Amino acid sequence: MTAHTGRATRPRRSVPALDGTWLRPGNPGYEQARRVWNGMHDRRPAHIVRCRSVADVRRGLRFAAEAGLPVTVRGGGHNVAGTAVADDAMLIDLSPMRGVEVDPAARIARAQGGCLLGDLDVATEPHGLVCPTGIISRTGLAGLTLGGGYGWLSRRWGLTCDHLLAAQVVLADGSVVEATERDHHELLWALRGGGGNFGIVTRFTLRLRPAVPVHRRTAVYELADAETALAHYRAFSGELSADLHVAGALKVAGQYGGHETWLPDELRGRPALYLTAVWFGAPGRAEAASEPLFAALRPAASTGGELSHRRLQSGGDHERPDGNRYFTKTRYLTDIPPQANVEMADSLAAMPSPLSSINFEYLRGAIADVPDEDSAFPNRDAPFIHTVSAQWTGPQEDAGNIAWTRRSVERLDPWSHTGGYVNYLVDEPADKVREVYGDARYRRLAAVKETYDPHNVLHHNQNIRPVTADRPAPPA
Ligand SMILES: Cc1cc2nc3c(=O)[nH]c(=O)nc-3n(C[C@H](O)[C@H](O)[C@H](O)COP(=O)(O)OP(=O)(O)OC[C@H]3O[C@@H](n4cnc5c(N)ncnc54)[C@H](O)[C@@H]3O)c2cc1C
Repeated sequence: MTAHTGRATRPRRSVPALDGTWLRPGNPGYEQARRVWNGMHDRRPAHIVRCRSVADVRRGLRFAAEAGLPVTVRGGGHNVAGTAVADDAMLIDLSPMRGVEVDPAARIARAQGGCLLGDLDVATEPHGLVCPTGIISRTGLAGLTLGGGYGWLSRRWGLTCDHLLAAQVVLADGSVVEATERDHHELLWALRGGGGNFGIVTRFTLRLRPAVPVHRRTAVYELADAETALAHYRAFSGELSADLHVAGALKVAGQYGGHETWLPDELRGRPALYLTAVWFGAPGRAEAASEPLFAALRPAASTGGELSHRRLQSGGDHERPDGNRYFTKTRYLTDIPPQANVEMADSLAAMPSPLSSINFEYLRGAIADVPDEDSAFPNRDAPFIHTVSAQWTGPQEDAGNIAWTRRSVERLDPWSHTGGYVNYLVDEPADKVREVYGDARYRRLAAVKETYDPHNVLHHNQNIRPVTADRPAPPA
């Protein structure tokens, strides 16, 4: 039990004893604890409660309420908008709470609220089980699940939030509830895609799936061939088996250290199109499953083979290191016709930083099969997702990279599908969240918010406002 009071920066109120650590500016560990993945967000909370228990979360909330401090919540600290941390606020940091228990017979995992995706994989792999999550293993499970959770396995089994069976939640008033299909059912519905609005989740109970053999094949095309290869990708996407997920990226080849040893030297440092096909079906059919795509236009380089689920899940980690500067914009697309391919290739040619990328994926499959009313997650029918992800290192390059990102997503406006993915919203107008969910779903979420956080204590997120916040004041 540790409580730092720090003589030089003595708080006005005495901080409660904790199972974890209480940090104030100037305390050892404060500078590290306030950092998030995106180096753009250099914020200084007034207090950081590094929680080790549910009781710590409650202590942090109570202290913030008494001191009148705004509250932020950190899971993995990976949100591109940096919502986990704010100046002069109380940061409730769950990152010390990374335990996972697996019940192999029930095919269930119970993961604490500060887990990273990799923590879950490490715990489930020995049991031959997996949970579909995102594609970078250092992302936080909490933020990803609460906003949805796309990944390699989504077309086969759905989103991470579709695997959320129950959640232990510390509500804004400090009470603790377990949201299940039976109790607090509406809260569980909202936690499946409605974001971090409704309480602080200290434990996620997740359904697991049997791990299947994984085969990955990556092909790289020169920029001159990109438009033709993209046209083949578009034609191929509509026929995909749910066992096959194909993701595309326009980026500079071989940029992220010595990882792509198979890449010929003449491609390195040049703009290129990557298509990566991951097969989860019968192992003997892996090559045949993606062959129509890759045979249509021979790539300049390719690689492939079987790999473990864990290696698949962490295979892209090195491409998004902590502390670099990031700006991301995402759109769903109805289609990627030839003119959209021209626009994407032109964006690549104009890309100011060689660390950036333009990514796209065909979705559907099990994502679209989940009944719409089962979760708050919207836009399940969106065919494609398009993400422009700028990454650079120097603050002097901020303006150029942000402008490039904006311009690159806007180029695809003519094929834009309604809504958006809440986990990638950054720098949007306040009403964007309502647009993402649509009016009816937003109203239902606002009613849940009214029940569980009527004073909008948890508002450093993609905020759902309680119903009463939008009601006109009664006449005096
Ligand atoms: C490198 C990278 C790769 C990504 N890949 C994918 C991907 O493959 N698929 C995908 O779907 N998304 C992906 N994302 C987006 C990701 O889902 C979101 O950024 C998500 O918010 C990250 O969760 P976190 O816990 O790390 O967030 P944090 O930054 O820790 O928190 C963000 C917000 O989540 C809420 N929150 C966090 N923890 C809790 C909690 N325990 N209880 C209640 N609310 C909480 C809070 O509102 C907080 O403001 C990726 C992001 C990055 C940076």
